[in-house]
Order: sequence, then C-alpha cells, then structure tokens
Amino acid sequence: MPLYHSQLYKDSLAQLENAAEAMSADPNIVERLKYPKRAIQVSIPIRLDDGTVKTFEGYRVQHNLTLGPGKGGIRFHPHVDLSETTALAMLMTFKCALVGLPLGGAKGGVKVDPNDLSRQELQGLTRRYAMEIGPFVGPDKDIPAPDIGTDKQTMAWFMDTYSQVQGYAAHGVVTGKPISIGGSLGREAATGKGVAYCINFAYDKMDKEINHSTTVAIHGFGKVGVPAAVDLSEQGAKIVAVSDHTGGVYCEQGLNVLDLQEFCSKEKGLLKDYTRAGVEHISNSDLLALEVDVLIPAAIDSVITIENMEQVKAKIIAEGANGPLTKEAIKYLSEKGVFIIPDILCNAGGVIVSYFEWVQGLAHFFWDEDQINKTLHSILKNAFAEVVKKSEHYKVDMKTAAMCAALAKLEAAMKLRGLFPG
Ligand code: NAD
Repeated sequence: MPLYHSQLYKDSLAQLENAAEAMSADPNIVERLKYPKRAIQVSIPIRLDDGTVKTFEGYRVQHNLTLGPGKGGIRFHPHVDLSETTALAMLMTFKCALVGLPLGGAKGGVKVDPNDLSRQELQGLTRRYAMEIGPFVGPDKDIPAPDIGTDKQTMAWFMDTYSQVQGYAAHGVVTGKPISIGGSLGREAATGKGVAYCINFAYDKMDKEINHSTTVAIHGFGKVGVPAAVDLSEQGAKIVAVSDHTGGVYCEQGLNVLDLQEFCSKEKGLLKDYTRAGVEHISNSDLLALEVDVLIPAAIDSVITIENMEQVKAKIIAEGANGPLTKEAIKYLSEKGVFIIPDILCNAGGVIVSYFEWVQGLAHFFWDEDQINKTLHSILKNAFAEVVKKSEHYKVDMKTAAMCAALAKLEAAMKLRGLFPG
C-alpha cells in the first residue's frame, strides 16, 4: 500500500506546503518534513477466546525526532493503515513544535475494531503489539499515549509489558496511564479542557463571552468530546447536540451533560440507546449542519469535506479531532468567515499534559491538579496568541498560521542540528 494515499496525508502535506509558501521556508527543510523518519509495520498474532489464532496489522511511525523523543497516541480502529498513521505522526511533529515541547512526532495503531474483542483478547493484542514495537519505543525514544479505541487500561498493559522486559517499572514509556501506576492528575480531561480553553481564547479575541445563549454541538462524545462538553456547560454554554458512531442526540434547551457522561461511561453506553424526555435522535450529518455558535468535531478525520462543507453553519469550528476538515473545507469555511481553531493547537492539551506526565514520571515527583491546569492554560494561551500573530503577519487563515508557527521552530532546530551525515 502506498504511504501517501490517505486523504489525511494529502491534506497534511497541503497544509505544510501552504505554510512553507507563506513564510518562504527553506525548501530543503520542507522536503525532509514530507517524509517520516521511520515507519515500522508489525504483525500481531493473538489467540482468540475460541482457541483460534488471528493476526492483526500494527504500525508505529516516527515522523521527526529533531526536538526530542517521539510522542503520539496508539489507535485501535478498523481504518488504521500506514498512510493515516504517518499523517497523524506528522501532525504530532507540528503540534509538539507549536506548543514548544521538547518532543518529536510519532503515532501508532492496530487495524482492529476493539468492540469485536473480549477484554482478554484486547490485553493479548496490546501486549503483543507492545513487544513487537518494543525495540523502537522507550522513555528516551518514543512515548505512546491513548487515542481512538485505546484508554488508560491499554496504557497500563503496555507499560507492564515493556517493564517486564526491562526488569523494572518504566513509568516514562507511555503517558495516559492510571494515576496509581504513575499517571498524571488532569491527563484524562486535558485534551477536552484544552479545546474549551481555546474556544474561550477565540471568544476573547472576538470581544465576546461564553454565556447561556452560546450553543455547542459535539461530533464524537469520547475522551475529547466529553470533557470539552463538561467544561463548556460548567461555563453556562448550552450543549445542544452530541454524537458517537451510532448517531446523535439533540435538545434545543441544552442536553444534561453529566447524565450523558454517566450513560456513555457504562459498558455499551451508546447514544442510539439514550432516551430522555425532550431529547431527539439525529444523524451525524445533521449534527454537523446544525446552526450553532460552536461546532467541535471530536471523532475522526475528514468529516467535513467538499461534499458537506456548504451545509456547515457554525460560527466557530474547534478541531478537537486530528484533521476533521479536508483542505477544501478549510479554504471554503475560512473564506466564509468561520473561525477555525486548528487541530494542532485546539487538541494540544492532551500532549501538553502527557509531557507533564512524562516529566513527573522521570522525576518521580508529582504535581497537583491546579498546577497542571494553570500551566496547561498558560502554554495554550501563548500558543494561541502566537498563531493569531502569525495569521495577521502572513495574512493567512488560522490553519496555515498554526503550521507557520510550528514550521518556524522546526526549521530553526533542523538547521542547527544539520543534515547527517552532511
Ligand atoms: P475516543 O475513541 O475516546 O472517542 C471517539 C468518539 O468518536 C466516540 O464517541 C466514537 O463513537 C465517535 N466516533 C467514531 N467514529 C465516528 C464516526 N464515524 N462518526 C461519529 N462519531 C464517531 O477517541 P478520542 O481519544 O476522543 O479521540 C477523538 C479524536 O481526537 C481523534 O481524532 C484523536 O486523534 C484526537 N485526539 C485525541 C486525544 C486524546 O487525548 N485522546 C488528543 C489529541 C487528539
């Protein structure tokens, strides 16, 4: 399968090229950034509960390690492939650079629907995947984290497998771990909280504030969507619609977010089964077209495309997911005046608090939640201001501006380190 066939990879390259053109970046640096440093494909045979053996495809891609060890999630999803994983690793390179972390960009995944496996089978899959990519990861090399279809339990199995091989508890090998084995306070909610912070910065920029008339729709009510909904509803916003892969729910007066959160946290808590007075069921495509102040695509990539971009009526789009808008949709909606908060900024809260978790693990010294959230807020606030500045300076949309800010930092570091062997 060609490395570059996915929509997300094409869109990520287009973003890089737009930014490079706007800021007249060194073409030799841009040339290097188009390719991953290292892409590993592994086969993961596991014994299923019925005694048979099934083999799954897995990947770990390290896109660029100039600024530090690789950092990026592990995705368990049926659409995982080398091209998508490479694109996601590339976005991680730019995300870490943008928010000033001493980390490179990486991503991993297994082509599997985790809903089809029992807990025991999932544990086997995670441990064998950890063994297969084990030589390439580690606290100084590459540090995975949760993504779609994986969670803190997955990270616990991964950390345990790696630690068994090393012979000691290696806290720094993954982030997004449970607190009792070296996780960080605030990590679970960090990505969604960061999305909510960025929406607040956008409101500040527009001299507006979030209040009881602010309406929000969230596509993807998972690890990113839920905490974003909780934070924004605590600030008074009305979360009028949320969805998962089974469909969406809508209430004009605002949904009860805590009730939804509790419902979805139960095993098989799917939104298609959520029934409450005053709550209607809607499709995912209807949700994306709702007339709301803020739309948060927080599920998967390429959901707003040339096909449906004209139906989008939101005033602000906060990209909780990685690459939820294709390049055509970004151009069309930016020109229409929609304020897009780019993914590498909007969802960077997760990697920022992952960085705090990694640092705490290496130092064996843990911070309180208040310190974590304050530092997260301050890093995102500075990065948001930098992106706005670049957008004004180069007269480009926020997506291109975020890439410009990241590329400027990478360009400086890559030039200083030089090309090996020269
Ligand atoms: P998750 O698995 O916890 O949640 C994903 C949600 O999206 C679920 O509700 C799922 O049902 C829904 N979904 C999946 N496919 C869908 C579809 N086709 N239509 C509608 N809904 C669909 O995953 P997550 O960790 O919340 O990640 C969501 C996005 O955010 C991904 O793009 C991920 O890369 C990105 N992201 C996650 C983190 C993190 O810390 N978890 C950090 C940065 C970026």
